[in-house]
Amino acid sequence: MFIIFQLKDKILDFLTQLFLYLKINLPILLENPQNISKAKIINPTNFFTIFPRRTLKVVVSPHYDDLAFSLGGTITSFSRYNMEIDDLIVFSRTTYTKDNPGHSGGSKIEKNVSTQRLLEEKNMTNLLKNIKISTMGLTDSPTRGVKNIVSLENEEKHQSLPDLEKILLPILKSKIEQGEQLFFPLAICGHIDHILVRHLAEKLLSTNISFKSYPQIIFYEDLPYAVLATKKDQEQTDKIIKKLNLEPLLVPINYKYKLKLIKSYPSQITILTAYLIISWSHNLKRIYQNNNCLERIYIPKKSLKL
Ligand SMILES: [Zn+2]
Repeated sequence: MFIIFQLKDKILDFLTQLFLYLKINLPILLENPQNISKAKIINPTNFFTIFPRRTLKVVVSPHYDDLAFSLGGTITSFSRYNMEIDDLIVFSRTTYTKDNPGHSGGSKIEKNVSTQRLLEEKNMTNLLKNIKISTMGLTDSPTRGVKNIVSLENEEKHQSLPDLEKILLPILKSKIEQGEQLFFPLAICGHIDHILVRHLAEKLLSTNISFKSYPQIIFYEDLPYAVLATKKDQEQTDKIIKKLNLEPLLVPINYKYKLKLIKSYPSQITILTAYLIISWSHNLKRIYQNNNCLERIYIPKKSLKL
């Protein structure tokens, strides 16, 4: 049985490389270019205006893996420019693996899975320099017993988690005051934990902190969720982008390097999901008619004058 699985992974791996080489996109990924708003490209000239060299980049990741899947390419550039990166994992206590989708198991399983996932995260960060992992030790929603983890309705339900705000808001506020740049998920497709983390960013935007002249609150597209988003999911995301008055920016990335980072998570995804994530960056390249694979991020419109 094990050999069959290994073989299956090898075949999928081969197909992934082949599809990427032939630049084939899955039909599921084809977005209607009319729906795509104009976006500024980050290039060598404006890169350091948007991402100043000496500011710490803090990626607020709901879970292990969110940084690599959603921002792996962007983070690789930061790392190469010797910028310091903090990989801040909010819900670091979990029972989720792709072989345990129902999150079953007690505290022993939770300990084992959390340890395994931290190890995978370390394997990913070992491929980069200037990156450190911080864990906040909160329990993810399925392990807390929450049902319907990923649903559009979660947006309306206003799931709140007092502990999260109490612990994290003061920390994040002081990071802003120190000039650091914080990256938050958009929560595409409505994963409760991602929504909860995005709410922290919304709180920061609505308090009267004085921001620097570069963007300090930046949103990223949650992957692989963005790939799987239905029309309704996209409409929901558009609403959030409008409500927060955000504009898109495109970051050129090296997809081969991103694929390496993503492969650090065998407990979470199959190679097919890795392919979907990488395909997204090819898809953006095609839609925006750029020469490079891309990741798309969003910043509040008034946070930068280019
Ligand atoms: Zn996540």
